[in-house]
Amino acid sequence: MIETDVLVVGAGPAGSAAAIAAARAGLSVTLVERGPFPGAKNMYGGVIYGRVLDGIIPRWWEEAPIQRWVTRRATMITTPTQALTVDFRTDSWGAPPYNGATAYRPDFDQWLASKATDAGAQLICSTTVVGLLRNAAGQVCGVRTDRDDGEVRAEVVIACDGVNSLLAKEAGLYTHTEAEHFTLGVKETISLPKEVIDERFGLRGIEGADYEIIGCTDGIPGGGFLYTNLDTVAVGLVLQLPALAAQSKRPEQLLAQLKAHPAVAPLIDGGEVKEYSAHLIPEGGFKMMPELICDGMVVAGDAAAMCLAAGIWLEGVNFAIGSGMAAGRAAAEALRLGDTTASGLAGYRRRIESDFVLSDHRKLADVADLIMSPRVQRSYPQLAANVLERIFTVTNPTPKPGFNRIIRDELASSGLKLREVMRDAWAGLKGYG
Ligand SMILES: Cc1cc2nc3c(=O)[nH]c(=O)nc-3n(C[C@H](O)[C@H](O)[C@H](O)COP(=O)(O)OP(=O)(O)OC[C@H]3O[C@@H](n4cnc5c(N)ncnc54)[C@H](O)[C@@H]3O)c2cc1C
Repeated sequence: MIETDVLVVGAGPAGSAAAIAAARAGLSVTLVERGPFPGAKNMYGGVIYGRVLDGIIPRWWEEAPIQRWVTRRATMITTPTQALTVDFRTDSWGAPPYNGATAYRPDFDQWLASKATDAGAQLICSTTVVGLLRNAAGQVCGVRTDRDDGEVRAEVVIACDGVNSLLAKEAGLYTHTEAEHFTLGVKETISLPKEVIDERFGLRGIEGADYEIIGCTDGIPGGGFLYTNLDTVAVGLVLQLPALAAQSKRPEQLLAQLKAHPAVAPLIDGGEVKEYSAHLIPEGGFKMMPELICDGMVVAGDAAAMCLAAGIWLEGVNFAIGSGMAAGRAAAEALRLGDTTASGLAGYRRRIESDFVLSDHRKLADVADLIMSPRVQRSYPQLAANVLERIFTVTNPTPKPGFNRIIRDELASSGLKLREVMRDAWAGLKGYG
């Protein structure tokens, strides 16, 4: 049996950040991970927004194991045969302090966990936490693991065990676990020579590209993505669970459709699939968040549904790190004050209320519903693509019809009402604040 001040469950970004913060505050910290090493079991799309690390790893960009710095960010709106891409690029994201980077999770998670062990935390891998320990007053005071004699007793437990958190559920903190709040992410990592990726995506050196794709999911609420690593491309889909279950296609068939799309196929042509992976995303964000604190325990990262999935943004790693850091610091404060009940740990919520973690979630709480609506998923991509196709099609000898006429015609054939479109536009403006 181990006794420790702070026990962190899960050595993903949230857990390692929590362990770094608590260990640097002088506490004894144990970080338990079920995989054989941090990141072994973790998958994601591919972009990490690292500025959140400024506070714990100054000049992190000089040592973080990244693949490419994202300098090109595109949003692609697709129908089965058309694509309209808003493509932004800037040199400023290719220089310190950078914006986003593609990285492989086994590399990144191991690197971040090494910062926790450097700070004094003890990392125990290949160990699965299977339940909570409580003291006579009902306060969480440790965990049970799958090892013989594998109890770990702790003053504070920080649950960073990812989406579908066993610990948050066992503590009774979750009230919204309905399937509609989750999406399934599926991804293929496709290998191509670096020069081919550079040429196809218009990149140089270690510049990278990030494409978010709308309208590519056969009407299932969700979206797609395409990210460049050094010599691989990640292509994937995010699919809302109940809608995925209600239709007949399997996720890999939908992914094959995306890979065959006329705007995607030329980018990955000739590549070899190196890996196929899948993982859940707590898409509901603010609306599904559990209670974050109970006596003796706080919950951070995906375990607390802190992944921000808001259409043009899919950010989870930075929210995991931000909340993990706050949890580690709040645990240290509670131990200093000698009060590890929920009220002693309340500094956790105060911290994430006052920074981007809960502010961004609160601000964007309604956006997910709009993005997942059938209009945004299917009707608007079709409308936008048809309008542009007609604008750019030269119909000589017939004169150009003019924008008004095209928009009116296409709106009428889409079945959308102008009032409805205006309402969504307003909701979008309000939602994105
Ligand atoms: C398809 C997809 C695409 C994504 N794209 C992006 C992106 O491009 N950018 C971005 O920022 N985010 C992205 N995300 C979200 C991001 O991956 C998560 O938000 C982030 O990983 C959350 O970090 P975490 O530390 O909270 O949880 P995790 O990374 O899930 O880590 C949890 C850890 O806990 C361990 N664990 C779980 N249960 C136990 C247990 N009982 N005992 C011991 N250990 C346990 C796991 O093995 C794991 O190491 C994506 C997610 C998916 C699925």
